[in-house]
Amino acid sequence: MGLLDKQFEHSNIIITSVDSLLNWARLSSLWPMSFGLACCAIEMMATAASHYDLDRFGMFMRPSPRQSDLMLVAGTVTLKMATRVKRLYDQMPEPRYVISMGSCSNCGGPYWEHGYHVLKGVDRVIPVDVYIPGCPPRPEALLEGIMKLQEKIRNESLAQRPQPKLVGELV
Ligand code: SF4
Repeated sequence: MGLLDKQFEHSNIIITSVDSLLNWARLSSLWPMSFGLACCAIEMMATAASHYDLDRFGMFMRPSPRQSDLMLVAGTVTLKMATRVKRLYDQMPEPRYVISMGSCSNCGGPYWEHGYHVLKGVDRVIPVDVYIPGCPPRPEALLEGIMKLQEKIRNESLAQRPQPKLVGELV
């Protein structure tokens, strides 16, 4: 008779790795910081409202960067706002993630050529994990972007998580 025989008859046991457990917890409770920069933010708000219901992903908008692990950059990043976006990102604790929502945030959008006041991509000031194309992207596209981020988090390893990237100072 083995040492463990009949020791677990009335217990349920799950065996997993620390990575899987932490990743599961993180991807099931992403807390985005609540702010919007321009028209794309209207679609972001619609995604959070009852019809699309972000809550079912365990996502709740937080009013402070210190309580957030996801930044949704939704809208036009003007040069004036870029410094604020970077400052907010710097105040978020690790591990933190960024979704760039819409053409403006991805590359300057309609302002990419003549918008002298617009940053040509938020990834010039903060690292971006997922880019969502569109002007504006529909809520379904945002949901897909969120699921892509969840996929990325699911495959992360605590030991191999890269150090935070240093992105160049502002223009
Ligand atoms: S991508 Fe289009 S909808 Fe989104 S902020 Fe820019 S102009 Fe507005």
